[in-house]
Amino acid sequence: KALVVAIDGPSGSGKSSVSKETARRLHASYLDTGAMYRAVTWYCVNTGVDLADAAAVEQACKDVDLQISTNPDDEFVRIGSTDITDEIREPSISASVSAVATTLGARAELVRRQQQIIADSGRRIVAEGRDITTVVAPDAEVRLLLTASEEARLRRRGLQLGGTQSDADLHEQVLARDAKDSTVVNFSEAADGVFTVDSSDLDFEQTVEAVLAVVRH
Ligand code: C5P
Repeated sequence: KALVVAIDGPSGSGKSSVSKETARRLHASYLDTGAMYRAVTWYCVNTGVDLADAAAVEQACKDVDLQISTNPDDEFVRIGSTDITDEIREPSISASVSAVATTLGARAELVRRQQQIIADSGRRIVAEGRDITTVVAPDAEVRLLLTASEEARLRRRGLQLGGTQSDADLHEQVLARDAKDSTVVNFSEAADGVFTVDSSDLDFEQTVEAVLAVVRH
């Protein structure tokens, strides 16, 4: 039976790893919508599309041959036959992705693709991002906002990156990016009917359990 689990939250909230594990436990598909924004950013950077040109970025979203896995145990992102799974995590992409995310025409096209992927999953999927509970799947069976304190988010992203980043880089990659993204999507507070899970004082397993508790609610 249909079970769409929509999870939004800021960077460093543990959203991706928690959403993926939740999908595994529910035997559901998994969609990382942030990877789609990153893939379009990669495409623009590598084909010479000016990220400041909104019309060009919107057109790139329409043109791009983007494939993303929905299998939580076999993640990949491809553009045409080029595998970009790892490249989209590079700091240069993180630093530019807000340019795509704040282009409204680009969002409209990516939202349309995401809704198609959810439909193709047979509506049994955990989808995560910034606007899943509000725009992509406001009709999801389960909607939740995964939050964490600024301190916890900076710490987690630092660990994820291997502890090699300076504080300034981390600040840029976590807080500054969220500030830019917040100009077009509100993921700092839960919309009506959206549950909040605060992971600041929870470890990974506890966070997954808290999310599953909301699903079973
Ligand atoms: O989740 P992740 O950090 O990989 O997302 C990368 C970027 O994609 C975010 O900083 C944001 O700009 C954008 N994004 C978005 N809406 C989503 C998911 C991601 O705007 N649903």
